[in-house]
Amino acid sequence: MSKAVSDVVIVGGGISGLSIAWSLVQRNVSVTVLERAQVGDGASNASAGMLAPLAEANRPGPFLQLGIASLRYTRRLWRR
Ligand SMILES: Cc1cc2nc3c(=O)[nH]c(=O)nc-3n(C[C@H](O)[C@H](O)[C@H](O)COP(=O)(O)OP(=O)(O)OC[C@H]3O[C@@H](n4cnc5c(N)ncnc54)[C@H](O)[C@@H]3O)c2cc1C
Repeated sequence: MSKAVSDVVIVGGGISGLSIAWSLVQRNVSVTVLERAQVGDGASNASAGMLAPLAEANRPGPFLQLGIASLRYTRRLWRR
């Protein structure tokens, strides 16, 4: 019997683990994702992916700038 071997094993099938897995597969890296429950049923099931920098930061500063930069970056990814 042959054993499947992956280059990378990721523990956790939330948005983080699945995003990393997807990114690695795009680079022809073989990946196994281990999930103890249901994929996407952790915190990602609550509200992952919504970037609302003006709602999260209560004053100008580096945190707000980071949120705005993240939102810009995400919008560029969606246009691809
Ligand atoms: C109520 C709430 C509101 C939120 N609102 C926002 C928002 O507005 N905007 C935003 O950007 N983010 C928000 N977040 C945060 C966001 O949801 C999380 O930062 C993000 O989903 C984390 O993703 P993750 O993949 O790291 O974790 P998770 O989605 O929790 O995935 C981790 C996975 O790992 C699995 N796991 C854990 N341990 C093991 C193990 N030992 N073996 C196998 N599998 C394991 C779990 O079962 C789970 O499926 C919110 C979170 C909550 C709870």
